[in-house]
Amino acid sequence: MPVDHTIPPTEGPSSAVSDPTEVPAPPADTHGPALPVLSPALPRRGLDSTELRFRGGFWGRHQDTNSSVTIPHCLAWMERLGWIENFDVVAQGRTAARPHAGFEFVDSEVYKLLEAMAWDFHRTGDPAADATFRALSDRIVAAQDADGYLNTCYGHDGQASRYSNLSLGHELYCLGHLLQAAVARLRTVGDDPLVEAARSAADHVCRRFGPEAPGGLCGHPEIEMGLAEFGRATGDIRYTEQAELFVRRRGFRTLPPPVLLGSDYFQDDVPLLSRTVWSGHAVRALYLAAGAVDIAVDLGDHALLEALDGQWHRTVSRRTYLTGGMGSRYADEGFGEDFELPTDRAYCETCAGIASIMVSWRLYLATGSVEFVDQIERTLHNVVAGAVSSEGNAFFYANTLHQRGEGTVTEPPSPRANSAFRAEWFDVACCPTNIARTLASLGSYSASVEDGRLALLQYATCEIRTEVGGAPVALAENTDYPHDGRIRIDVEEAPKQGVDLRLRIPSWAEGATILAEGPGVGDLRSSSPRRVDPGWVDLRAHAHDRLELLLPMSARATFPDPHIDAVRGCVAFERGPQVLCLESCDVPPPTDLEEILVDPSTVADRASGDVSVGAWGLPLPHAGSAAYGPAVPREPHPVGPVTLIPYSDRAERGTSAMRVFLPCSPSSEAS
Ligand SMILES: [Zn+2]
Repeated sequence: MPVDHTIPPTEGPSSAVSDPTEVPAPPADTHGPALPVLSPALPRRGLDSTELRFRGGFWGRHQDTNSSVTIPHCLAWMERLGWIENFDVVAQGRTAARPHAGFEFVDSEVYKLLEAMAWDFHRTGDPAADATFRALSDRIVAAQDADGYLNTCYGHDGQASRYSNLSLGHELYCLGHLLQAAVARLRTVGDDPLVEAARSAADHVCRRFGPEAPGGLCGHPEIEMGLAEFGRATGDIRYTEQAELFVRRRGFRTLPPPVLLGSDYFQDDVPLLSRTVWSGHAVRALYLAAGAVDIAVDLGDHALLEALDGQWHRTVSRRTYLTGGMGSRYADEGFGEDFELPTDRAYCETCAGIASIMVSWRLYLATGSVEFVDQIERTLHNVVAGAVSSEGNAFFYANTLHQRGEGTVTEPPSPRANSAFRAEWFDVACCPTNIARTLASLGSYSASVEDGRLALLQYATCEIRTEVGGAPVALAENTDYPHDGRIRIDVEEAPKQGVDLRLRIPSWAEGATILAEGPGVGDLRSSSPRRVDPGWVDLRAHAHDRLELLLPMSARATFPDPHIDAVRGCVAFERGPQVLCLESCDVPPPTDLEEILVDPSTVADRASGDVSVGAWGLPLPHAGSAAYGPAVPREPHPVGPVTLIPYSDRAERGTSAMRVFLPCSPSSEAS
């Protein structure tokens, strides 16, 4: 049965790479796969950006925009604000005369940008980008003290002394990001001045905070993940052991907590091994967990790995939003209690989403469990994809699920954007550079190899050229996912005995089918599509085999656990991996978005690709009347179908009020 006619036209088909001039050569002196997470103790690894190349499509466009717009945008803002000049000031001994620019942690944004640039250069091979990297790196290296200490806010003339505020000073946090940038450089280009500076800084940390030292840990975890991966990249176990020491020291309330916050803010209230769920500041908790997975894997600490696995499950099932966002409290950017998931105060910091992907990815690499990859997909499509504008130059810091007001655009930078619009920059600018480094290395999270098997994890139009079990394997994947559920996989090269492939069927994809055609696709070969269940599908494929996976993409209603009081009686809608939302600009006046009720049974896919749902308006009392009182009879009136859009596309048509969860109409079964 020919299947070609069922394949939609896609961007970046294999013909696009027939011209070798379009494929930039990777840097000459790379060694081994260039990945953010790589350990001989892990049974599997991701693919690097020379092994998996996006060819247009949803993530390819995001990655290209990241390269051409977001990375230069971040660089320009940090130059403008003097955050890079901070390094020049230290190098030139001018700290007494020129105050430090920005918050005490802005060095970390420069390092995250360097990490993004390193991964991106590996992908593009653009010599101009590498020259920019080297010039920036030189300015950073010049600011390093002779003993390896590197920070622009502390320890120099006119500044507070080193490590005088471990709770909030962020010095080790910043160095953790330096180490991650150095790992990216080491694995893509090899030793260079930045790597040497990182080694010197890591040695300084081991001397200052080692087993013989009186103690000390950083209020913002990150050094653990940086040291652990730097230990892997350099083969020096001292760094991993230092990371473990930081984890073991945490949880005994040794850090003075910030005013109005407790030790749980930075996970210093309970040792990680004793914890059952993540709490406190979400990014801190998740960076700590990610580093701890690395340590548990490399040091064979099965109890710690098991504890982290349990923490992940409880947190994802009770403290995580439908979008994959984490963190429901504004006061400490932190997790709430179980089921404390208000939509209009959903903080869901972009960095927390990215950090959760880091944890899920490490747990997947360690265990091979599909649920971690499902959660990565949910978070990528709904937190990460929506946190950056389609133009690549504006960002959400908080990713609420209910924007009450339409908001007004103010002049950036804002401290943090809790608003209806993406901002160009922030005073606390952790999120833009985190997005940049994630998108630059996204191929790493999209497929993996293990013990003679290639697993396809995140579907995208891409080319894969790697080795599986020592033999070269090449695949071409074409799809318009997530807009369309058809994914075509052409096996272009495989060993004679075939290659074992593992395909992920997302948890939401009940009713998925696969059609396998070719000379040797094993027992899945058939002339008609076969149904496959969510989870993994394993098959052996040979060169010239073709697979077509069809994931059901009909819009579906999703109901919250009734424990989540904030959205009891409400419904959300999803289509494929995308959560949908209703924006005020799609509600016909005079009805207000907040007056809308929906009947979930009426959700429908339109031929245009839009999704609609039948809606009613329940008039709200006039503002200014009493907030509380006896019941007032109100009659809903029909509004007609309203259009739902992907949550990640919100606020692209100007500022708008927005809801993910909508109250069910009294007539609907779900109400
Ligand atoms: Zn952030």
